[in-house]
Amino acid sequence: MKNRKVVLSTDNKHKIKEIKNIIKDLDIEVLSKKDIGLKSLNVEEDGSTLKENSIKKAKALKEKTDYMVMADDSGLFVDELNGEPGVYSARYAGVDGDDKKNNEKLLLNMQNLPLEKRGASFFTVISIISEDGEIMTVQGECRGHIGFQLKGNNDFGYDPLFVPENYNQTFAQLDGEIKDKISHRALALENIKSTLEKLLKDD
Ligand code: IMP
Repeated sequence: MKNRKVVLSTDNKHKIKEIKNIIKDLDIEVLSKKDIGLKSLNVEEDGSTLKENSIKKAKALKEKTDYMVMADDSGLFVDELNGEPGVYSARYAGVDGDDKKNNEKLLLNMQNLPLEKRGASFFTVISIISEDGEIMTVQGECRGHIGFQLKGNNDFGYDPLFVPENYNQTFAQLDGEIKDKISHRALALENIKSTLEKLLKDD
């Protein structure tokens, strides 16, 4: 039985599993918002940065629980497009969550760009609010470039277009285990682990 609990603002099974795995050694039990009866709590992600959105989601959850809470927001930032699609990654082509149209729009907007101008980063920002209201934010970045065509089957979001640095396959072609080690989300979660370790030590 663990002493502390953290409630996640997501019910996404893959994210919950990843977080549980990374902080399994800590004295903190991971709960989803569904576990505490808040399945229907949805927050509009209308902030202008990933940080704003993650704090907004964490605050909305913290209003409903005394436990520590955690919320994340991610996006793809293309250098040559001034950081687009960025905070609007999920709805770049206007239809919320339509990965196919988002990828088509990205390819179209980059169609004349040579390889050296196709640099991009995925970012994840995670915010935690402790039981007594202290807000802590960390981020993870995965650097890479945008390919010229969709490649691979393990597709989520922009995975078929994003080739991480030091690899020559897209996230959608690479083994899921590799992605889970090098991704923006994995790196942000590693940072969260150090933040939580410090929090437990200071208390
Ligand atoms: P979320 O904040 O994790 O829901 O991510 C927002 C949007 O960013 C997703 O709908 C995807 O379009 C994109 N995205 C975030 N992380 C990834 C990833 O690991 N691969 C591909 N696309 C991603």
